[in-house]
Amino acid sequence: MTSERKNLAGLSRGELAAEVVSMGEKPFRSKQLWHWIYHQGETEFDRMTTLAKSLRMALTENYVVKRPLVSNMQTSEDRTRKWLVEFDDNQQAETVFIPEDDRGAVCISSQVGCTLTCTFCRTGTQKLVRNLTAAEIVGQFMLARDSYNEWPTPNDGGRLISNIVMMGMGEPLLNYENVAKALTIIMDSEGIALSKRRITLSTSGIVPVMQRCGEELGVNLAVSLHAVRNDLRDILVPINRKYPISELLDACRAYPGANNARRITFEYVMLRGVNDSDADARELVRLLQGVPAKFNLIPFNAWEGAPYKCSSNTRMGQFAEILNNGGFSAPIRVPRGRDILAACGQLKSASIRKQR
Ligand code: SF4
Repeated sequence: MTSERKNLAGLSRGELAAEVVSMGEKPFRSKQLWHWIYHQGETEFDRMTTLAKSLRMALTENYVVKRPLVSNMQTSEDRTRKWLVEFDDNQQAETVFIPEDDRGAVCISSQVGCTLTCTFCRTGTQKLVRNLTAAEIVGQFMLARDSYNEWPTPNDGGRLISNIVMMGMGEPLLNYENVAKALTIIMDSEGIALSKRRITLSTSGIVPVMQRCGEELGVNLAVSLHAVRNDLRDILVPINRKYPISELLDACRAYPGANNARRITFEYVMLRGVNDSDADARELVRLLQGVPAKFNLIPFNAWEGAPYKCSSNTRMGQFAEILNNGGFSAPIRVPRGRDILAACGQLKSASIRKQR
């Protein structure tokens, strides 16, 4: 019976209202339902006590509120948690939570696999299987809250799950409609109500969609840069052949809402002998003049078969110093969850693309 009932999680406000009206109810009932689903995190209609009993029964008969299935959960020795989530068609993706002392970010996947084959990224070795739906994207966040028991607002107002980074498997701007719908639900002030300032979307540089993302969602932007020359970036981030560095940086300069108080994060994976020279660092400083930028230097996280090694600590320190002297913040990210392959660039699921 369950599989035939429609899932209400992942519907927009308008879609939820339409379902409620189709049941012969007044549209305002959908506001109450929205509150239960996205503020209280409730999944059982029976417990939605502000709704009339008859409505609760009708909802139970026709609908569900559900999350993706968690088929495996691992917690790292540094407390990073990774879920292997499974969707209705048995496809799988990974979601990661990276806790700090009093806050933390959920790293959410937008696709099963990825089309973009960035050579330092393990996800890139997994061919794109499919885009995730809005319900599957919101569902990853909701199951993270389930896991930490953070529905509704904790009494002391403190939450461990405070931020979202769209940096999991896939390129979010190649699944923009679903990602935008999911983030709009997550930002809605009467539901999960996560501020756009607490959400960062990371792109490898899908230039034509960046402006729209800034205008419509206004979330923080992170850009996977990783190289200062097109010949090298063509290899590390092959989408560069379509949208080269100069076009990417123009799109960054035009990104709505980016300013010195709200800088774009440029991610730069540190690959020994590949992109980590002093000359690379100096060129970065030159290239990013006039862009409200900060850097995130990512020590390369190894995975089986990876063609790179991580730069030495000394090299990374010197690289960071040149960026700092050039006026940019450039922390070296502390790798998290390496022991459970949850660190940056290590995600992959067993889903494989069906043969045509
Ligand atoms: S870095 Fe991002 S865009 Fe590139 S292959 Fe990995 S998941 Fe895809």
